[in-house]
Amino acid sequence: MNTKVKRQILDKIKEYNKIIISRHIRPDGDCIGGTKGLKAILELTYPEKEIYLVNSDYSEYLAFLGGEDSQFEDDFYKDALVIVLDTASTDRISNPKYNLGKELIKIDHHIDIKPYGDLSWVENLRSSLCEMIVDFYDTFKDELKINGEAATYLYTGMVTDSGRFRHNSVTGATLRLAGLLLDVGVDTEWLHANLKMEDYDYLVFKAYALGQVKLTENGVAYIYVDKAMQERFGLSREDASAAVAFAENVKGSLIWAAFIDNADGSIRVRLRSRFLHCNDIGEHWRGGGHECACGATLYSVDEIHALLAEADAKLKAYKETHEGWL
Ligand code: AMP
Repeated sequence: MNTKVKRQILDKIKEYNKIIISRHIRPDGDCIGGTKGLKAILELTYPEKEIYLVNSDYSEYLAFLGGEDSQFEDDFYKDALVIVLDTASTDRISNPKYNLGKELIKIDHHIDIKPYGDLSWVENLRSSLCEMIVDFYDTFKDELKINGEAATYLYTGMVTDSGRFRHNSVTGATLRLAGLLLDVGVDTEWLHANLKMEDYDYLVFKAYALGQVKLTENGVAYIYVDKAMQERFGLSREDASAAVAFAENVKGSLIWAAFIDNADGSIRVRLRSRFLHCNDIGEHWRGGGHECACGATLYSVDEIHALLAEADAKLKAYKETHEGWL
């Protein structure tokens, strides 16, 4: 699938001696794993090339995967190929200099509402960006090299973005490509321990926050992690954002959300659904993402209520016209 554009991307990679890889802001396991995995594959295969990871933010909970490179002067970019991974729109690219390169490539698995790049490979039905990078490796395995380090980065993204291989975007191909990585060598016990372990203080926050999950009339579950709650429990941005998981498994609640106060006064929305799509709601509120997992940005509590009313109406209509959900 998409062999032509993949071949064009590999040809571009071969053409350039300097490659700068970037990703989206507020990074998750998929974009960190994907950028680091691609870098490791390219460094192994082309030791003579300069490959850099340049971004402007990081996520503390992924520090176990290691760091990235520092930003360069503008001039450094002029003979570089820039590859941006896992980022649907340019406003979410974590490297403000992404456009200074000689050419730009987009590789992504989000719905392509705002295309960019001289070359673009987007497959929005893939369970993760990392799955695409493994597929890229698999397509050209006679030309590319991989090792345990690269496999671990990529497996991290596959595991995290697919909800531990639970989401319905997981296909036979997903598991075959994950199997390829396990064959190369991934310490899954080490990886899952790093992903799963939490501080005792976080457990205390979780116990409190579970009691703060609320339901709309027709069953949209939500939690609002406002500034006061964040201060009371000393939460990092990631800790606060992880609260979306607390609203996930309520019976009859097919749409769930977390609202998180940002430092700049805006409100981050993390929206999820099962059986029905919710990305139209995310897109309506200045966001986007996947059909059943998307984000948005709000600017007032009134907007929280308005978004919830929209989600509630959608859920009501779905329940009235469908059977078999739980
Ligand atoms: P999150 O809740 O941040 O994990 O986001 C779920 C998915 O939606 C991820 O794939 C994000 O990259 C994407 N996403 C989140 N926020 C936005 C946004 N404001 N615009 C576009 N995509 C988003």
